[in-house]
Amino acid sequence: MNIVLLGAPGAGKGTQASKIKEKYNVLHISTGDIFRANIKGGTPIGKVAKSYIDAGKLVSDEVTCDIVKDRLSQDDVKAGYMLDGFPRNLFQAGELDKFATIDWCVNIDVDFALLQDRICGRRVCACGESYHVSTLNGETKCAKCGGELYQRADDNPETVKARLDTYQNQTAPLIEYYQKQGKLVNIESGTKSPDEVFELICKELDKRVK
Ligand code: AMP
Repeated sequence: MNIVLLGAPGAGKGTQASKIKEKYNVLHISTGDIFRANIKGGTPIGKVAKSYIDAGKLVSDEVTCDIVKDRLSQDDVKAGYMLDGFPRNLFQAGELDKFATIDWCVNIDVDFALLQDRICGRRVCACGESYHVSTLNGETKCAKCGGELYQRADDNPETVKARLDTYQNQTAPLIEYYQKQGKLVNIESGTKSPDEVFELICKELDKRVK
């Protein structure tokens, strides 16, 4: 099963991605994680990506599509994968359709008004877990692996506003794109807990998986 995981920044894609990965045994491919690893490693891609990411803008389609195309040409994707953060606009979705076959697009639908606070209060761990400061009670280590929690460089108010604008203008049209292809699995996350959202995702995916 090949899935695209869609949702605004802060919708809980990362949290749901680790649950989906465990249950459905799919490879988790996050373009944001790939860019962050490149920035950390000081690679040429990292150097190009950093200025865009710091400004809350999308990295160029050319660079991003090449990275994904290359990743999907590797053998370990054959058992199924989940794309998180890609595609981010209609051009990328069209390119993806040229080199991959997507079965379902899971869209995590969340109240836009909640997102600014959610993202700015987010603390993440290198293992993929994420938390909100309001529930951490000053804790600085990850409950799952003991790793040090940190705030993503682009989780600051100014960049978050730009990222949300980018999402609305460029990424949200993908919902209709996948709906037209009959691949949209829309999940209304509302005020539900991450576990409840995951239950809904499983219910919808289990109906579709042969
Ligand atoms: P994310 O971790 O998915 O929120 O991505 C963090 C940042 O990486 C985004 O704000 C973009 O600057 C960049 N990025 C991630 N995925 C893409 C993509 N598919 N196309 C362009 N830029 C991306």
